[in-house]
Amino acid sequence: MLDKANGILHTVFGYKTFRPLQEEIIKTILSKKDSLVIMPTGGGKSLCYQIPALIFNGITIVVSPLISLMKDQVEQLKELGADAIFLNSSLSQEEYGKNVELLINNNVKLLYVAPETLFLEKTIQLLSSLKIDCITVDEAHCISEWGHDFRPEYRKIIEIRKLFPDAVCVAVTATATPRVQKDIRDSLELRGNNNFIASFNRENLYLEIAPKVNGVEQTIRFLRKYPNQSGIIYCFSRKQVDSLYVDLYNAGYSVRPYHAGLSDEERKENQELFIKDDIQIIVATIAFGMGINKSNVRFVIHFDLPKNIESYYQEIGRSGRDGLRAHCLLLFSYSDIQKIRYFINQKEEHEKKIAERHLRALLNYAETGICRRFPLLSYFGEKFNHQKCGMCDNCNSIDKDLVDVTIPAQKFLSCVKRTNEIFGTVHIVDILKGSKAEKIIEKGHDKLSTYGIGTEYSKKQWLFLSHQFIQQGLLVQDNEFGSLKLTEKSYQVLKGNLTVTAKIKEDFEERIKKEIKESYDEALFEILRKKRKSIADKLRLPPYVIFSDKSLSEMSSYLPVNKKEMLRIHGLGEIKFEKYGHIFLKEIIDYCKENKLKSINEDYNHSPKIKIVKKTKSYQTTGEKFISGTTIDELTQETKYKKSTILKHLYDYTIENGLPNPERLLNESHLSENERYKVLRLFDELGAETLSPIFNSLKQKVDYNELHLLRIFYIASKMRRE
Ligand code: ADP
Ligand code: MG
Ligand code: ZN
Repeated sequence: MLDKANGILHTVFGYKTFRPLQEEIIKTILSKKDSLVIMPTGGGKSLCYQIPALIFNGITIVVSPLISLMKDQVEQLKELGADAIFLNSSLSQEEYGKNVELLINNNVKLLYVAPETLFLEKTIQLLSSLKIDCITVDEAHCISEWGHDFRPEYRKIIEIRKLFPDAVCVAVTATATPRVQKDIRDSLELRGNNNFIASFNRENLYLEIAPKVNGVEQTIRFLRKYPNQSGIIYCFSRKQVDSLYVDLYNAGYSVRPYHAGLSDEERKENQELFIKDDIQIIVATIAFGMGINKSNVRFVIHFDLPKNIESYYQEIGRSGRDGLRAHCLLLFSYSDIQKIRYFINQKEEHEKKIAERHLRALLNYAETGICRRFPLLSYFGEKFNHQKCGMCDNCNSIDKDLVDVTIPAQKFLSCVKRTNEIFGTVHIVDILKGSKAEKIIEKGHDKLSTYGIGTEYSKKQWLFLSHQFIQQGLLVQDNEFGSLKLTEKSYQVLKGNLTVTAKIKEDFEERIKKEIKESYDEALFEILRKKRKSIADKLRLPPYVIFSDKSLSEMSSYLPVNKKEMLRIHGLGEIKFEKYGHIFLKEIIDYCKENKLKSINEDYNHSPKIKIVKKTKSYQTTGEKFISGTTIDELTQETKYKKSTILKHLYDYTIENGLPNPERLLNESHLSENERYKVLRLFDELGAETLSPIFNSLKQKVDYNELHLLRIFYIASKMRRE
């Protein structure tokens, strides 16, 4: 039987190995022993009952509380070629009838059903005539009043279970408290004592907490590093959601709001757009997220402090379900704490105590100097058995110890002095980093001797340093306006009488960017992503149901060029290959030809790590030819590459080597001088990492190829100055 389970894992699901506990759980279910399964969100609970369901002769009933979840699961199973259906109130009479017929004719392995449908007389009659092998209760914490989402109708599931004494019962949840566990066992009268509790450590989530200085600006800076990637931004209030939404929209981002103040239709529409990758970002109150199975959420930002550790954990848990890395940033401010304290003080004595305890745990987590996984996991009663996780900001401080930053401190302080102590942190850092922001130029701060001298750290690292300067009393910050003022101590530093030490943090986004560049071919990933989107739209499915981000990133790393190689990719079983795999295969082969790339032929079956693609550097050739005088148009004709490909080559070349005489590029631009100036100014303002904000700022009137061209010019000129 276990061989069978293994076979299904490979051929149907296309996964390489079981995750911890999955195999054991499947074995237990297959031997018809009741089981309680507790795993964090994204841990892989579904597989535990889906594989037995495909092996059993009879039907597996899955009780699930949310219609959207049910629909999602059934869609995914159907894409894998598994016989799954659902019954709930959202179906038309015709669809309902069709599903009933499938059941009667023994064509169903998995039946997803909402509790209220399950208890209908006609459903019970229908089921009584069938062979039921397993009853799975998904989101089983809904049984307990102590859980965060109590549903009274869940307590009646036991009555159904009694009707099918031969069926094994499986309860599945992500809520771990012992109280809830006991409730589930008691209510469902689970036999035996088979509890499976997985670790709550989500290794692929990068945890970061940054002091909130200028939330909007920090958010935009963060978003720039994740172009085209899906993410959720959580805010405390509807008002905050609306205002941040407007700010991001105006900055050219593809974004929608979500909160209880919107109409049902609006909420539904915005959620749907997000799930289908039609928009990039959702700004939401905590009302958003339940019932979302989207696997490719790449970041979660907490713009405000979360309610408590448990909701924080749930919210960040919505990212990285596909197992790829996701970035979770919490913007932390003490004035937020004041607000929360104010609310707490309005509460009754008993509630006040609980709320205070929640807040203390949250502060504990935010203020810790050690690995963040210690306080986080210990909240859930789990001990983290490593010194460091390597995936949180504290573990990634370049040096645990303090380093001498006297010279950087002098630079910073003298910049504050020269601007007359009336500006805030961000402005000072902008001067040090030589920003061309309007505010800097207007005030003539690009003429200061401290302009552009802060090359040793990234902007983010400077911001982190400046907070330490404040903490150390080298600066005081005006409470109302945020402006920085010097202190007695700072003059000592400027005179060289005092040394300063501080922590330097690694810039995680920079690291990720570098790692991605080295681990898979981004351009191919983009091509595959677009293909996925267009197939998904035609079939009216969310893109991640076709293939997960993980599948696409493996394809653009290993470059499979035949069916056998393709089947080794994560998430690719036989059926998926027949349905879509071959379409993607063709894209990969074309791309490899166009760029003269070779597939990696080594056995990557057992290696979990993405291998590095060695390009036969066609961009190198393009770059060299351009430098020796060939124009872009000539290159296009000569190589038969598309113009966009040539520009991509030139871009890659420039990033790596720089480009002499970038002015030559301007000869090939079709824009007027005035228009060009406008675009270049926008690079200064919005950054040059992604073009879509610029494209949108220009009301989509300037062609992408033009933007690509000017970006190369912009970067090359900048590199020459540095
Ligand atoms: P949850 O525990 O939240 O219900 P899911 O069952 O939806 O989690 O699984 C989350 C993701 O984990 C899915 O997208 C699936 O692709 C992936 N997954 C589950 N099991 C495995 C496995 N053995 N190998 C690789 N990926 C897996
Ligand atoms: Mg689930
Ligand atoms: Zn850590």
